Amino acid sequence: MGKTLIRGGTVLSMDPNIGDLPRGDVLIEDDRIVDVQPQIDADAEVIDATGFIVIPGFVDTHRHTWETAIRGCAPNSTLDDYFVGVLDYYAPVYRPEDVYHSNLAGALECINAGITTLVDWSHINNTPEHPDAGIRGLQEAGIRAQYAYGSANTSLAKYWFYSGEVIPASDVKRIRDTYFSSDNGLLTMALATRGPGFTQDQVVTAEWNMARELGIPITLHAGMGRMAGRFAMVEQLDRLGLLGPDTTYIHCCYFSEHEWQRVKETGGTISIAAQVELQMGHGWAPVNKSYQFGLRPSLSVDVVTTVPGDLFTEMRAAFASERARVNAKCWEDNVEVPDTMLTARQMLEMATVNGAHVAGVEDRTGSLTPGKKADLVLLDARDINMVPVKDPVAAVTLSADVSNVDTVIINGVVRKRDGKLLADVARARDLVENSCEYLDDAAKAHKAAQDAAAA
Ligand SMILES: [Zn+2]
Repeated sequence: MGKTLIRGGTVLSMDPNIGDLPRGDVLIEDDRIVDVQPQIDADAEVIDATGFIVIPGFVDTHRHTWETAIRGCAPNSTLDDYFVGVLDYYAPVYRPEDVYHSNLAGALECINAGITTLVDWSHINNTPEHPDAGIRGLQEAGIRAQYAYGSANTSLAKYWFYSGEVIPASDVKRIRDTYFSSDNGLLTMALATRGPGFTQDQVVTAEWNMARELGIPITLHAGMGRMAGRFAMVEQLDRLGLLGPDTTYIHCCYFSEHEWQRVKETGGTISIAAQVELQMGHGWAPVNKSYQFGLRPSLSVDVVTTVPGDLFTEMRAAFASERARVNAKCWEDNVEVPDTMLTARQMLEMATVNGAHVAGVEDRTGSLTPGKKADLVLLDARDINMVPVKDPVAAVTLSADVSNVDTVIINGVVRKRDGKLLADVARARDLVENSCEYLDDAAKAHKAAQDAAAA
């Protein structure tokens, strides 16, 4: 790969030791960032970044990428509707190839939107061929990802709400041995668990122990919506003695103060899917609460069945809703708003360096720091929705959208250039459209068969 010099951009390094460079150069050698300075002279291939904003790639800390093939199927769903209309309706009929098609197209969608690291929460392992297919999709797209191995999803009754089904340890181990013998690759691994309330205590304990024996982190949805909000999942995990720094809690909308305290004390990490939470009834996106407890919250997309697949949306949904809550309280109390309101920079922090922290890869990505892997994005700040740039952080957080993502580099490899993905997008589109068509027919037939059996 050699050396590449990204020259003359506005650099938002998200590294406190480097800060923002109004005009800066980033030198990449092979897969790594080797220098970030106002001016670098190097014998290198040059990417002219004049008029561009250079940022670390975004990190999406939780997405069910397998749902790409059913994008937009549940626009008006609540979380309860989603369990029935997506998990119970579509998931049982997914074939391995549908997971592959979805993960390939979904990972390309991420790269197109400037997401260079993805936590793929893959609770679609209906057969042992399903995880291999999901991983293949991620590999082919070239994204950095944490593949989170989840349960099968062949029936709501079997896998959700006091389920007695443990994720099969032998297959999790097989996947760990086959694809993740090192934790330093472009792909890393986690266990996507359902947790207390969704499963019985012995399942929870078995799955937590499984992850810890294999040395992989744990990710679970917690404290959301009408049902899971009442499970007090953190209290239950605490009672089982399972809280730890290897665990990511997703949503966290209905944590008690004590649960927040316990997550903080035990070193847990937070993923907030703001648009989903606000729209589907999970609860408020708890960004302020996370910061109040000294945590470093991250952002996630969750489901493209119902929300857009980019982090610009997430930054703005979380920023607006959390400020709205403070503003509303101040209106009620008839007091001035505090000067501790969330800032645009905090949102960018959540979408980049905090995300890397939560995905367990802050040692290699999340900021433009010499020694880290070269995962970065050039946003075209000459575009009409971006000019004039008075404040580059505001430009990224509040003006930019996917159309401004000009260049995306992952692990030193250029994956998008001049606004175009360097991938066979037409093939990915055909594959995911074919799956969409199959899934609609198969789900309808599956439902009819179930209804007939019940009648
Ligand atoms: Zn989710």
